[in-house]
Amino acid sequence: MSLPEGKPATEFVPRISDKRWDHHLENRIFGVWEQEKIYRFKPKKGSKPFVIDTPPPYPSGTWHIGAVAQYSQIDMIARSSRMFANQVLFPIGMDRNGLPVEIYTEKLFKIKMRETTRERFIELCNSALNDLESKMLETMKRIGLSGDYHSIYRTDSVEYRKLTQATFIQLWKEGLIYEATRPNNYCHVCGTTIADAEVEYKELPTRLTYIYFKVKETGENITIATTRPELICSCQLIIVNPTDERYLSVQGKHAILPIYGREVEIKPHPSAKLEFGSGAVMICSYGDYTDVLLFRELGLTEIIATDQYGRLTEAAGPYQHLSTSEARKKVITDLEAQGLVTKLENINHRTPICSRSATPIEIIPMREYYLKQLEFLPQLKLLAQKIKFHPDGNRQILLDWMDSIAIDWPISRRRVYATEIPVWYCAGCREPFIPPAGEYYRPWRDAPPIQECPRCKHKEFEGDTRTFDTWMDSSISALYVTGYSKDHKFFKHAYPAAIRPQGKDIVRTWLHYSILRCFQLTGKAPFTDAWIAGLGMDEQGQAMHKSKGNVIDPIPILERYGADAFRFWSASEATHGSDFRCSEARIAGAHKFLTKLWNLSRFISSFPQAKVNKLFPSDKWILAELAALVDRSIEGYREFDFFVPANELRDFVWETFASHYVEMAKPRAYGQGFTKRQQKAAWYTLHTVLETVLLLLAPITPYMTDHVWTALYSKNSIHSQRMPKKTGRKTKPKITDHIIAFNREVWKIKKEKNIALRDTLEAEIPKVLKPYREDLTKMHSLIAKP
Ligand SMILES: [Zn+2]
Ligand SMILES: [Zn+2]
Repeated sequence: MSLPEGKPATEFVPRISDKRWDHHLENRIFGVWEQEKIYRFKPKKGSKPFVIDTPPPYPSGTWHIGAVAQYSQIDMIARSSRMFANQVLFPIGMDRNGLPVEIYTEKLFKIKMRETTRERFIELCNSALNDLESKMLETMKRIGLSGDYHSIYRTDSVEYRKLTQATFIQLWKEGLIYEATRPNNYCHVCGTTIADAEVEYKELPTRLTYIYFKVKETGENITIATTRPELICSCQLIIVNPTDERYLSVQGKHAILPIYGREVEIKPHPSAKLEFGSGAVMICSYGDYTDVLLFRELGLTEIIATDQYGRLTEAAGPYQHLSTSEARKKVITDLEAQGLVTKLENINHRTPICSRSATPIEIIPMREYYLKQLEFLPQLKLLAQKIKFHPDGNRQILLDWMDSIAIDWPISRRRVYATEIPVWYCAGCREPFIPPAGEYYRPWRDAPPIQECPRCKHKEFEGDTRTFDTWMDSSISALYVTGYSKDHKFFKHAYPAAIRPQGKDIVRTWLHYSILRCFQLTGKAPFTDAWIAGLGMDEQGQAMHKSKGNVIDPIPILERYGADAFRFWSASEATHGSDFRCSEARIAGAHKFLTKLWNLSRFISSFPQAKVNKLFPSDKWILAELAALVDRSIEGYREFDFFVPANELRDFVWETFASHYVEMAKPRAYGQGFTKRQQKAAWYTLHTVLETVLLLLAPITPYMTDHVWTALYSKNSIHSQRMPKKTGRKTKPKITDHIIAFNREVWKIKKEKNIALRDTLEAEIPKVLKPYREDLTKMHSLIAKP
């Protein structure tokens, strides 16, 4: 911002002396916040606190830039809610249970979990997590999260696991937990059963093998197409579509399995698709979910073909002990040798894979604990309708998932670094025993809670060695942070939490399980609002993956542009709930806006604050613009959609305030040819706009706004201030367009005439702009046309 000529240089000295915003100050400002404890949660007696059910992140080496953006916005929820006078509890938690750290630990220490003592392995996981967590906390502080760092909770702590186990014991007593052997998703890499919610689908190339099966009654051949020929040994049925004319004559007859010679029935069933393969399908235990459904529906006897290590069982005869892929090749070779393979077709097959290890899953029956969920679905859907979703449309993701749920939730896992299932079994009669709630139990090493089996008088017991699915822990975060079963007084006020912020990628897991578990335990939904964010993509809109080489590390970006620029970018990039593209150029653009705001603040800091009783027309105009900005920004904040205030503020500050009002008011602010009273009106207006803009921007760019605020307006942090009040002004003043158009026209003419902006110009001010004549004349050095 250049100063007009002839201005006495000593009269107006900016109180903000630094010419540029140094974003390295952000660390120091965070230190001040910590020292002054301004974000400390202060519960007020009798009033409901605003509890944020913060997603506890999983500590890992590099934090996804999309997640860092999401947490920045969760912080905006906390900061804006504080400025709306709420008592905000913004807990910081760490989700530290489960598979990722086990894999990380195996790699880091070059050991195998199953070959290390459990005690030692847990110790190593814990120390690895501590390192990872401290890096993650550093990033949280670096981006300015105003959370409660004094009571960080960890899902692997004794306190937390105690609560997970207590809730299991409570539900066990209510009869909501049962053990059953059922075909389920099994991941060989993770070595455990996994829930449907953690299964993803991927188009994987595979071969469709067309095989001759002889029909026993007629001796003719029918062709079966399958991607899993190694499962022929477990085939119990052939199905054909009832309308498929090719197979009308063989319906009700029998096919003889190649290699094994066993007979199975050929039945009409609508699950057989006319267009897939040959139209005739073998039903095995278990190739896919259709198999599972048909075995159940038709009461077929299952033949277990694969074991939990991904190898074929005794049932496979000559292929026993081979892995499924080895066996597949060998079966095809053997069938080809017998002339039974009529065609091999390369296809892309929609394959279920494990979301954690990204490997195809098998469906095998295992004995697992289940938490009932099917019978709760109608009530859960009602709750989902009552919860206010931001954006509203993302509720459908949850409802669609609930509609697709077909089995209860298998909750036991064959892993180590997770909360133990607190059950012991009588060594004599296998009767299970659970301990009283309230302690943390590790049945694989702790003494049983019982001396003698009341049923068979046996005195020996075995502890369960399994652990829970880690969603069993994280799904009760809302209970943990509100003091469930610990601080009854607080819980009564604090639960349900105010808001659950999370990404849309974990709606069917974290969101669904939280509603299920908390409803079962409390009869209520865990929160009143759910804020579902979109996901961060690369610049081309593709998901980021190490293998694709398109991962953006947020740390160097934060170093280069600072947290405020990163946060402003994250708020302004996309409307809440939609996916967003991560681009360094766009973050650099946000940084430019902050530079603009800094320059403006510095300019305004040259002038004293003033009290006035009469404003100039241009002052009234910009204050009317400001009033409309306040209302629209507040509406955005109330919806937790930070896209609205971020973009409204940028447009106002840059396009209207800086480009037009400031230029119009500048001669007056410097007192060039105006009365003292007129000058003071400009000072008053400049400061009023800046103060208001800083307050409105504070939740989004907490560092710079606090720095300027404390330099100019108050010793107290901007983050202990209230949001400006709504003004009732919905629309921008109509005159704005006229002012902008006139200024642009003058600038254009001067440019065309190749004269300097401060040079005089003969021009007529339009009638509609008469009230602004004095400011406009000075601003453009206009001379009335003779
Ligand atoms: Zn897996
Ligand atoms: Zn017993």
